[in-house]
Amino acid sequence: RALQPVQAADSSKLYVADLESTVHYTLRVEAGRPAVLAGAQLAALKCYVATLAKYFPGRPSVQTFLQSLDSWLRNWTEPELPRSTLKEAVKNKEDAIPAAVLPTNITWVGCKGSEPHFRGYPCGLWTIFHLLTVQAAQGSPDQELPLEVLSTMRCYVKHFFGCQECAQHFEAMAAKSMDQVKSRDEAVLWLWSHHNEVNARLAGGDTEDPQFPKLQWPPPDMCPQCHREEQGVHMWDEVAVLSFLKEHFSPGNLRMDHAV
Ligand code: FAD
Repeated sequence: RALQPVQAADSSKLYVADLESTVHYTLRVEAGRPAVLAGAQLAALKCYVATLAKYFPGRPSVQTFLQSLDSWLRNWTEPELPRSTLKEAVKNKEDAIPAAVLPTNITWVGCKGSEPHFRGYPCGLWTIFHLLTVQAAQGSPDQELPLEVLSTMRCYVKHFFGCQECAQHFEAMAAKSMDQVKSRDEAVLWLWSHHNEVNARLAGGDTEDPQFPKLQWPPPDMCPQCHREEQGVHMWDEVAVLSFLKEHFSPGNLRMDHAV
């Protein structure tokens, strides 16, 4: 199915274009920066692709792309993976049956900033990992490996995320409390609350897009039931937040529109 043009993004929706642009950027730009991948960095890439292949709700050709890249990486047992070999492995296979295609263009819709230096990729990266934590929690009553997605994110951010200051901040938060997460639902809430911590730290700073102020999210107009007040103090209703996140970051909330 082709992506459709859209004039303005709806902040209550997720856009396939943002997700695909982000995955493209991670695999073909960030992972392609080191001349050779080895050790913990190679393990981080394998883990990231395995998690995408398992939980990313992509279009069929994107799913095929991720699944075949995952099997290719599993079969790569050499200690080192040169950049030129990875570059070949992440190429599209349009003629394969079924086709394995991850679009090579970058188009921001929900993550589009009011200026090119605002939003975009970091917004997409948060979105992907919220989506993956939610997909891992959906229909999975077993509480095995509650950190499956969060530790993938921790490794990806540590080894590949181009914003080093961001990576250091995130690692510090992870080191402090990630191991206290005991279930997949708690993993969803951990990422939500720590993203809000980052929003609070960055609010009013120079990386903030004036047209997209950093909020404690979801704001009351998006989820009134998520907020309550106890003796004049704002409180989150975490049960309501969890069901909101499961609805918001679900395949049913994905739109196929692209920007014009
Ligand atoms: P983002 O914060 O990127 O959020 C993207 C979208 O997610 C929002 O539009 C909203 O729809 C949704 N959202 C917002 N809050 C939540 C939430 N709590 N839970 C679920 N969904 C939510 N920038 C720095 O300058 N310094 C840093 O230290 C820094 N650390 C970062 C660490 C990580 C791991 C990442 C991925 C990014 C980091 N960034 C940092 C970038 C920064 O957090 C924003 O991504 C960037 O400024 C773009 O902001 P944005 O307005 O698009 O919203």
